[in-house]
Order: sequence, then C-alpha cells, then structure tokens
Amino acid sequence: MSDWTNCVTSPDVDTEGFRSLAYPVHRASTIVFPDAQAYAGRHERGLDGYTYGLSGTPTVRALEQKISALEGGGKTLLVPSGQAASALAILSFIKGGDRLLIADSAYPPIRDFAQHDLQRMGVEVAFYDPTAPEKLENLIDERTRMIWVESPGSTTMEVQDVPRICAIAHKAGVLVGCDNTWATPLHFKPLAHGADIVVEALTKYFAGHSDALMGSITLADPENAKTVRATLNRFGIGVSPDECSLVLRGIETMAVRLDYASRTAAKLAELFSAHPLVDNVLYPPLKNSPGHEIWQRDFSGASAVFSVVFKTPAIAHVSAALDALKTISIGASWGGTRSLVAPMPVKQHRTARPWTGDDLVLRISVGLEDAADLEADVQRLLNVLATHATEDAIAS
Ligand SMILES: *Cc1c(COP(=O)(O)O)cnc(C)c1O
Repeated sequence: MSDWTNCVTSPDVDTEGFRSLAYPVHRASTIVFPDAQAYAGRHERGLDGYTYGLSGTPTVRALEQKISALEGGGKTLLVPSGQAASALAILSFIKGGDRLLIADSAYPPIRDFAQHDLQRMGVEVAFYDPTAPEKLENLIDERTRMIWVESPGSTTMEVQDVPRICAIAHKAGVLVGCDNTWATPLHFKPLAHGADIVVEALTKYFAGHSDALMGSITLADPENAKTVRATLNRFGIGVSPDECSLVLRGIETMAVRLDYASRTAAKLAELFSAHPLVDNVLYPPLKNSPGHEIWQRDFSGASAVFSVVFKTPAIAHVSAALDALKTISIGASWGGTRSLVAPMPVKQHRTARPWTGDDLVLRISVGLEDAADLEADVQRLLNVLATHATEDAIAS
C-alpha cells in the first residue's frame, strides 16, 4: 500500500486482552457498510442500530441505554441541551391547531419557546396551576395533545401530583411530558408514575461538573421514540461522543454527589428557615414547601437545589449580601460541584397562579464543598441582610 493510502487508513489493531473500565469514545460522522446490500438496508437497523454519525455511535448508545435503565425503561435520545430536550420533546408531537398545557411553574425558557415558536406555528398554549390538578379536566378539550409537567417547578418548587395528572390526561388520550431535572431518576421516576415522556437536563447533576451541556428525552413507548428520532434527524440534531463521555463519567458519581450535597442542602435550608428575615424556604423535604406530602409519597430523595423567599425589609439588600459571599458563586446552571446562588424574578413567569411573595426569590444550588465553609458563607449573607435591615429600621 502506498504511503498516501497508509496515511488515511487505520491498522487493524488486535484488541484481544484489552478490557478497560472506561467506556471508549467512538467518533464518527459516517458509518461504513460491508456491502451494497447492507447499505441499501441501513434504515432497517432500528433505533439502536448505526446508520449515520448524527444518529449515534456506540458511545452515544451507551449513554442512551444507561439513562433508559435509570428512568426505568423506554428508549432514550440525546440532544445538545436540557432546553433542546424539552423543546424537541414537545415539537415532535405537536402541530398547528393542537392545544398544549404547560405548568405555570415550568422552566421559563420553555414558556418562552411555547409563547413564541409554538404559538407562531398555530399551537394554542395555556398555562395551568401546578398545585391544582383537579382544574386540568376543564382545560383539556378535544384539541389538547400534551400536558407538560415539571416537578418540582423551577425556582418556586411546587411538587406536582404526576400520577393524578397522568390519569386525567390518559382518560382524554393526552400525552404527558415531564421535566425531571431537579430530582434526577435517582429520586423520581416519572415513567413509573405514568408519564409518557421524561426529559433531563444532563447539564445539571448527570454531567455534574459545570463543563458540559446535554439533554435526554426518554419515551415509554418505543414508537414515540421513533417519532422523536425522525424529528431530530430532520432538524440535524445529534450529540458529540466526547461530550457523552463526560456525562458517562459524571453518572458514575451522581448518587454519592447527590447524597452528600442534599445532606448539606438540608443544613443550609435550616439555617435560612430559622432566620427572622426569611419568609419561607421552598424545598420539597420541608413541611412548608408546596407539595411536600406528594414529594414524600412519590420521591425517594431530594436533590440540593432550594429557594429562599425573604421578608420585605431584606429585599433591597440581597444584592449587597450576594457580594459578600466567598465560597458560593453567583450563577445560573446548577448541579455542579460548586455551590451557586441566583436571584430569580418570579412574577413575570406566572399567569395561571399569580405569585404572591416578593418578586425576588434566591435559588441556591449546594455543591460538594465542606458544609462548615458553606454555613459560614450563608451566615455572612444573612449578617449583611440583618445589618442593613436594622440600619433601615433605625433611619425610618
Ligand atoms: C437547566 C434546566 C434546563 C435546561 O438545561 P440546559 O442544558 O441548561 O439547556 C431545563 N429544565 C430545568 C428544570 C433546568 O433546571
């Protein structure tokens, strides 16, 4: 063989005796076939087969199958972000003239997607009160195609009654999709509670190190998975095997990370709850958190994200208090090893169940730092609030 040809072909290295605990990264834009007949029949290879790089290599399949196992069945497809997972899970099934019901507490960018792209395409979008599943029956009509659930809700943490919602939906032939990012399938399995579709922002606890973005769509019915795969192929959406290897690595430690971080989160939530300037701590394991009983009934654990609602005298000083933090960083994409806070405006994202607390809610994602360092940081934040609030009271 000439040098030029040698340069572009790979040697057939013997892999006999090579066994590694690490899953290899298989990169491919194209798949080659042993003969013309195999090429002609490539579309019969099914969802797990290999036809083209975009629809997956063995590394992608390994991650898909691992997530399917955690979700408790079905077929999983991967997309470049959590937002893409929700948007494409909906887009694959909805058409102009259909009606879509979205929980009022859903991740705000998915609201945005529905109100812009879906409405532009003629989909009727309605929001529902996540704490009142009994009202859903009246919102469902013959055009309703899907109910979108997120439990607990983004920032405001309402735990939804997924089994009840699914029973209502299925009686009317409506699909239920659920964003399960907060709980992860380690703590809640939406498919086992009746959902047809579950999405995860793998960016968060699965990848777990604030260095990768990805999303998964798992479908209870493999026929529905075919529908989503076809949509992804038409849009040209796939994921990189290199990124999959980061997520595969992240999953290996997900259970211990969640276990440790949720125990620290419980301590910090307590510290906030006990403070006189705190109105409420929204965290499903706490009795005062909306849907606490449903969380106790349906979930097997908590993750480490909770929200703090302050009393009025503290609100003006939250920015100054955040600037005093030393260990906790200010940022949005949670679920990594480092603790984060993000001040979240809530009112503008509520239409079905108006938010009655202060507009500003502080969302906290607890990471893997030493609990004592984090407690000291939270104490620093609370001290700044208390000092400023006292000064205001004296001045007035
Ligand atoms: C972060 C998040 C997403 C989006 O994930 P990205 O990968 O950042 O797009 C979706 N849903 C929930 C509940 C999230 O917290």
